[in-house]
Amino acid sequence: MALVSDGAFIADEWRRLADEESLPGFGKVIVSLARAAAALDDPRLAAVGVYIANTADPKTLAPHLSRLALVDIAFPAFTDGRGFSLARLLRREGFSGELRASGRLTPDQYLHAIGCGFDAIEIPDDLAAHHGEANWAKALHARSLSYQRGIPGGASILEQRRHAHHAKPSLVDILAPRLAALDLDHRLRLARELIPGRIVFTTSFGIEDQLVTHSIFTQGLDIDVATIDTGRLFEETIELWEKTEARYARRIHAVFPQAAPLADFVAEHGINGFYRSVENRKACCHIRKVEPLSRLLAGVSAWVTGLRADQSQAREAVGLVEFDAGRKLVKLNPLADYTREAIVAATEELSVPVNDLHAKGFLSIGCAPCTRAVQPGESERAGRWWWEEDEKKECGLHVGPDGRLTRGPAPEGSR
Ligand code: SF4
Repeated sequence: MALVSDGAFIADEWRRLADEESLPGFGKVIVSLARAAAALDDPRLAAVGVYIANTADPKTLAPHLSRLALVDIAFPAFTDGRGFSLARLLRREGFSGELRASGRLTPDQYLHAIGCGFDAIEIPDDLAAHHGEANWAKALHARSLSYQRGIPGGASILEQRRHAHHAKPSLVDILAPRLAALDLDHRLRLARELIPGRIVFTTSFGIEDQLVTHSIFTQGLDIDVATIDTGRLFEETIELWEKTEARYARRIHAVFPQAAPLADFVAEHGINGFYRSVENRKACCHIRKVEPLSRLLAGVSAWVTGLRADQSQAREAVGLVEFDAGRKLVKLNPLADYTREAIVAATEELSVPVNDLHAKGFLSIGCAPCTRAVQPGESERAGRWWWEEDEKKECGLHVGPDGRLTRGPAPEGSR
């Protein structure tokens, strides 16, 4: 099979699985709708897509739509246009992942497919050989004037779709002033209403995260609550994880570090090798936290965090909503302007379970070997990697390639 995207044949990163094939322990997979729930709940997978018939009822996709990164619609014959209508319906339902058309489509149908919302076309090898890449490229640039006249505002479908692809930063502009006037519950609810696609909240079971978890679960919001099990968590954190699932009768999804790089790191530097140098510590954080987070956030529209601006000097510029240019997603920090005192009061009032470590002086909670209680007068995050001198130390989850907390500029033309 050949995959056409942007008028060129490209490599396919996805693996299509027949129902009798078991789920692999990694990567991006496309499965039948019957297996979607199981695949989506498998934390080892980087992203999940489904393949469906062109006669599928969009309602059957609805329970999974916000979590799916790809939908592949079959085209049994090039004369059968029902897949185009289905694509339009899915886009209208707010599906923001990749839409793929699979079957015996020809370059003549390419622009129409794009106009209906498709991102890529998968064709059999014989068709690919017959038409060749050059014909697909030519078709992509063969927009007619009449085709363009039907587009409001004079923009072509392609231009509009490119704009839509980069439209997330404008959501930031829309959300920021509206969120400022709301409390936590209403912030999360409004974000869920306005942001299409899958939203993930990552918890490390600190007091802020527990309040956000409470808000998501008690309001029944379609936001996935997930955590990174680094393998070095406190026993108290594991107990709270279990207690939280029991309290809200909901599962908190977990992602784990990949075994091979972790084994290599431990073999080379020792089980606590992160104490030996900042480089080692950052490498350990990358393997145990940053890489698993990248898998967790693949294909996600928005990422919710429990960051507060007054937690540390490094976090003082954290906003309620930002565009994470590195990960190309909306980052929502609904507690950015809350104080610790307000959060403590809210958790007490709502009987939200909190980590026993807080009562022992652990204000910010991370991995056990890298977190200690803070002394009176110390900043909240002074107990994290306390042997390092850098005042702005972070584990890398919220840091961009330039070393700053990720508040990337919006792509050009989106404001
Ligand atoms: S906090 Fe410590 S143990 Fe946890 S990932 Fe980072 S260096 Fe490794």
